[in-house]
Amino acid sequence: MTSPVWTARVLTLFPEMFPGPLGHSLAGKALEAGIWALETVDIRYFASDKHRSVDDAAFGGGPGLVMRPDVIDAALAAVMGAAGPDRRSADAGPPIYLTPRGRPLTQERVRALAAEPRITLLCGRYEGVDERVLEAWQAEEISVGDYVLSGGEPAAIVLLDACVRLLPGVVGDAKTLAEESFEGWLLEYPHYTRPQEWRGRPVPEVLASGNHQKIRAWRRAQAEATTRQRRPDLWARYRAQQAVMEG
Ligand code: SAM
Repeated sequence: MTSPVWTARVLTLFPEMFPGPLGHSLAGKALEAGIWALETVDIRYFASDKHRSVDDAAFGGGPGLVMRPDVIDAALAAVMGAAGPDRRSADAGPPIYLTPRGRPLTQERVRALAAEPRITLLCGRYEGVDERVLEAWQAEEISVGDYVLSGGEPAAIVLLDACVRLLPGVVGDAKTLAEESFEGWLLEYPHYTRPQEWRGRPVPEVLASGNHQKIRAWRRAQAEATTRQRRPDLWARYRAQQAVMEG
């Protein structure tokens, strides 16, 4: 019996936006190879009135429309099953609603999501989704950054791309993943390739020295300097981790 592949279910008003960029390069090849599966669900299919409306004016006034809880609920129930009062079946994690109000997505969270058998993503449009349906499904709210997109679809693509490249067999050399930015709270060191001198700029000498110990030390020093300068938040976590390791 073959084990089920990692599956992403995406609830959207624009299913035609998928796989989009995920149909190309690493993610696209992995999709074709059956390493992961993508199921899109058209939210509009679950609209029950004759106009197939999925949104309505906001209570309390204000500009913009809000996605209706009954329509989102029906769509979630169709894909996730609706076992109990909290509207979640026992074997499925909560749906993930992509929203600028969510917790920022991190590599740590990406790793955990890539280790789940399947994830369900809800893409908002307009002003977003009625709060009650998010509460009822205990949705996890995730943001891909402190800026506002016009819809959750590009955010879902970002999240899926980050997860898929961690699935076994997607990236050829698994060592690539171990040395990347955010592993151990450091940003990655800089990279160089041929030509060895370009527009009067030589590649740092140590990298061509063949001395692997020195190269490792140089790379770590670069990673530390960049992290310290650009990301004081990561730098603080790195230092804390170092302190624990040094006992
Ligand atoms: N009124 C919302 C606010 O101010 O928080 C923004 C709504 S936005 C125009 C429409 C949809 O895009 C959201 O429901 C969400 O699904 C998605 N979206 C926008 N920015 C996002 C972000 N930074 N991360 C994740 N999803 C985002």
